[in-house]
Amino acid sequence: MRGDLLDFTAAPAWGDTESPAVRFDRDHWLLIEDGRIVGRQAAEPDASWARKDHAGQLVLPGFIDTHVHCPQLEVIGSYGTELLDWLQRYTFPAERAFADPARSRAGAEVFLDALLASGTTSAVVFPTVHKVSAEALFEGAAARGMRLVTGKVLMDRHAPDGLRDDVEQAERDCVDLIDRFHGRERLAYAVTVRFAPTSTPEQLAMAGALCRADASLYMQTHVAENRAEVAWVAQLFPQARSYLDVYECVGLVHERAVLAHGIWLDAADKRLLAERGAQVAHCPSSNLFLGSGLFDWPGAEFNVSLASDVGGGTSLSLPRNLLDAYKIQALRGARLTAWAALHAATRGAAEALRLGGEVGGLSAGQAADLCVWDWARGPVAEARDAAARELHERVFAWMTQADERNLAACYVAGQRRV
Ligand SMILES: [Zn+2]
Repeated sequence: MRGDLLDFTAAPAWGDTESPAVRFDRDHWLLIEDGRIVGRQAAEPDASWARKDHAGQLVLPGFIDTHVHCPQLEVIGSYGTELLDWLQRYTFPAERAFADPARSRAGAEVFLDALLASGTTSAVVFPTVHKVSAEALFEGAAARGMRLVTGKVLMDRHAPDGLRDDVEQAERDCVDLIDRFHGRERLAYAVTVRFAPTSTPEQLAMAGALCRADASLYMQTHVAENRAEVAWVAQLFPQARSYLDVYECVGLVHERAVLAHGIWLDAADKRLLAERGAQVAHCPSSNLFLGSGLFDWPGAEFNVSLASDVGGGTSLSLPRNLLDAYKIQALRGARLTAWAALHAATRGAAEALRLGGEVGGLSAGQAADLCVWDWARGPVAEARDAAARELHERVFAWMTQADERNLAACYVAGQRRV
């Protein structure tokens, strides 16, 4: 595959627009065999290779969206609420429909195709409380060859009828799904606690026990997104030192934990996340749209990855979300480079998921999960691109102007899917 290849060899330093961690090879070739990258070179390969010529286009590793909700496509762009009333008014009714297996399967198909059409080839996904919604996602991802982490949502209180499980049945469902899908093809299971308020202490303890029994399992949840939510958690768990401590006390904060948002964390929480090797999935468009708060990215000592959080987020496109991440830091008086942003959406997320050898880069040995992007689309972006003088300027302008319409092709394990 020929194109302008861009990826990272390390984490770029904050604020560094000329970073040694950036690897940009203009008009180079990637050699791909059996779904994996086997080489990267300037010279044209010999005639025995089949060619995909993307000369003059930008080739990036497929994006990794570390927090997104499959059943919420239909509530994207819903008006007028913050987190807790947003759940009640829009999200819970949409999720209830996924009790129907046909609805779950159709929802998973549309969702996975939409991820690919946005340039996202790996994702950590919330389905619903219904076991069938997790099965549908696993099966749909396997059919597309995608790297997907998901698990049945646990919620046994503070949710409407049709959206609550109980500890015993939930545990049986998790064990069955882990047996059938965890480690199969490119799938992995995440113990999925919606958030502390919708699980009883008994259910949280069960979730922690599942993680302790198998260190290869992921864990996904939400933490410290919104101030009213943080206050509610303090009321429900008066013995906990903080919101994060509710999860820590039952063993849910570990190196495969993906916690969405993390806006309202204190210094002890931040140290704990770093010690445990856990990651925060930063969800910029969601945080702006729901008015949740401005994430302190430069102050994070822990791993930070990027996420759309659709339907709280307003776009599955990670470039759109990276632009929103830049705007959040601008409001805080900081500056997010294109390098730090793109790294977090590719290599940074892969490393934080302990998948750095497999995804997130364009190196020999990694899966050929690749997206080909038009540098510019339309007269405004074309004029801006032509005026760019150096690499960071060009890539940053791309990041501010691009969305899924710039995606020229998307390959998953070497197979063209878009
Ligand atoms: Zn979320």
